[in-house]
Parts: sequence; structure tokens; C-alpha cells
Amino acid sequence: MMNTHWVAYEMTDDIEMQKLNDKIMNCKLCDLYKTRTHPVIGEGSTDADLLFIGEAPGYNEDQQGRPFVGRAGKILDELLDSIGLHRSDIYIANILKCRPPQNRNPTKNEIKTCSPYLEKQIDLINPSVILPMGSFATEYIFDKYGLQFTKISDLHGKLFSKQTLYHQIRVLPLYHPAVATYNPNKITVLKEDINQVKPFIMSKTI
Ligand code: URA
Repeated sequence: MMNTHWVAYEMTDDIEMQKLNDKIMNCKLCDLYKTRTHPVIGEGSTDADLLFIGEAPGYNEDQQGRPFVGRAGKILDELLDSIGLHRSDIYIANILKCRPPQNRNPTKNEIKTCSPYLEKQIDLINPSVILPMGSFATEYIFDKYGLQFTKISDLHGKLFSKQTLYHQIRVLPLYHPAVATYNPNKITVLKEDINQVKPFIMSKTI
């Protein structure tokens, strides 16, 4: 029998997500709106077990308003494929929703200003595993969950677990897929690392 409470929660989440997306589309909280073509909200299943988090949109993402559609996106697709997943099974977001000019690093202030959007995405998607890609996303997520950030070269491919008030969250840091575009050996490492997530992809995505 249909659980009406559950349906009501799902509907509320959808409405909340739509409200959030509208806010991001119209955001002018920092100066990046002046140079962006499109904000990049994120995309995928809002009910996903796995939430991948990148750094910020690049040129192609800014042009299309979609995450990871350039060369790093091809690597990400290859990684997903290696564990039998498609983009529609997961959710992909970024720390910053707008492209920094010339793809420069995000500033501390930009991260602070933009991160409430990511926080809301994490709340609504409620993933089992967060996969931050690269140093910026990993440091942000480690700070959020009180984990000790050192450097991505030490942390990648290791599964961390943290008990929150409501449930257990896991964090699997990955190298940023862009590293494999200039160092093809890294694709092997990325594929080994992403394998760690396999035990957690049964419940909601499959
Ligand atoms: N790199 C990122 O970190 N995010 C994107 O969306 C694209 C490239």
C-alpha cells in the first residue's frame, strides 16, 4: 500500500529543490554572476545514494549550464561506467555554482557565500556516500564532518565514515577527474578508488 507520509515528504523535497534551483539561477550574492554565462546548479537523481562534488564550473559548463560536460566530464563518465552507473543514477554538484574567470581557484569568500546552496543539496538528496573530487571539495566536506583534511594525495580512495545526528554518512575522496586529462596514469588510480563505493550502490540507485 502507498505510504502517504512518504509521498508527502517526497513532494515537499521536490518543491524545496525547485525553490533552491530558482535561487541559484537568480543568484547575485557574489561577483561571479557578472562574468558567468549560466549558473550550474547540478544534475542527476535527487534521490541518489551517491553525491559527487566538484570544484566549480569550467568554460564548457558555464556555456551549457550543466556540470562536467567538458574533458573532465568524459573521465567522470568513464569512471561511472567502470562501476556500472550512469549520470541518472547519481547526483553531481559543485562547491561553486558559477565559473570563476579563467578557471582560477575559488576564493574562501566565494566558497563561504555559495556553500549554503550545496548544504541544502546535501540535505535534500541525503546521500549515503559523498564523493568529493579534488582538494577544494574534499577540504570542504572534511571540514563539514569534522574529519582531518591533510592532502588529497593521502586521502584519495580511502573511505571515511561519520555518524551524524540522523544517519551514518560516508565520504570517499577522489582525485579531480581533470588530473587524468593531463596525467593518463591517474585514470587507473581513479578507477581503483571509485571501486570502494560499490558496496553502497544497491539501495536507492539500483
Ligand atoms: N570541473 C569541476 O570541478 N566541475 C565541473 O562542473 C566541471 C569541471
